[in-house]
Amino acid sequence: MDYQKIIERIAEDVSPLLDKGEVASYIPALAGVSPSKFGIAVATVRGECFTTGDASECFSIQSLSKVFTLAMVMDRIGDALWERVGREASGNPFNSLVQLEYEHGRPRNPFINAGALVVTDCIILENHDPMRDLRGFVRTCAGNNTIGYDESVALSEKETGHRNAALAHFLKSYGNLYNDPGRVLDVYYHQCSLSMSCKDLARAFLFLANGGTDPVNGNIVCGLRQAKRINALMQTCGLYDEGGEFAFRVGLPGKSGVGGGIVAVMPGELSIAVWSPGLNTAGNSLAGFKALELFTTYTSKSIF
Ligand code: GLU
Repeated sequence: MDYQKIIERIAEDVSPLLDKGEVASYIPALAGVSPSKFGIAVATVRGECFTTGDASECFSIQSLSKVFTLAMVMDRIGDALWERVGREASGNPFNSLVQLEYEHGRPRNPFINAGALVVTDCIILENHDPMRDLRGFVRTCAGNNTIGYDESVALSEKETGHRNAALAHFLKSYGNLYNDPGRVLDVYYHQCSLSMSCKDLARAFLFLANGGTDPVNGNIVCGLRQAKRINALMQTCGLYDEGGEFAFRVGLPGKSGVGGGIVAVMPGELSIAVWSPGLNTAGNSLAGFKALELFTTYTSKSIF
């Protein structure tokens, strides 16, 4: 399969869409990113990497970080996590408060913000220096020691993240946050501000295409069972309110972020990261979504 040729064709096909989406502006530091950016990277379990466009440019990974924190926590505390977080699609916006009240402070899944805050709370409980340890985990997965946080994005979100602050305090009121809400929010904003390229992300998600083991260096990131579960959660809860649409049009487990990145995994074969900052009305990268749809169309690959 000539992945290089395929992704170059996709980049051309989606170019008319680049100015059609809306760059996320509720985090002021993200509002200035150029909507014309577009990159794709494909990493295969055989160790190959194919890239096109702005695939080496770093961007704010935002909710993609929730996959890394989940992998860390599942590996450390295993099934105990599910006493505090569910694993069903929420059918509500990712930052919604109402469902949390109906369901007595147990978030529906680890990829909505409330669930991710509980996961971050676990990271703080399990790690002496959570920000350093998370950065170390991500660097190891990506095989890149230069990955870091963008302090200006973290600060910008801290200054404007009233809804996340409300969620954190709400969780605390139900006894489902053990640390101080301010501390949890600080670590959460930092994880969202990790700055990575498509190339880093495709490489970093490769363990999920290979049963939990990094196929390039043999490092066991998580067990087979955990990898299967993370992929299942990405499939059902990874694309905000468009999980069904993503399964229908793309047919791979994936996770998106409001920075315009989407990463998808073809178990046994590859992971693919796309970046285009213009979002659709559901908050997913407009051109990125289409690019992944074309990828599974042109390659005839899908988990179904
Ligand atoms: N930091 C963002 C927030 O909490 C992440 C949103 C996302 O990428 O889904 O609002």
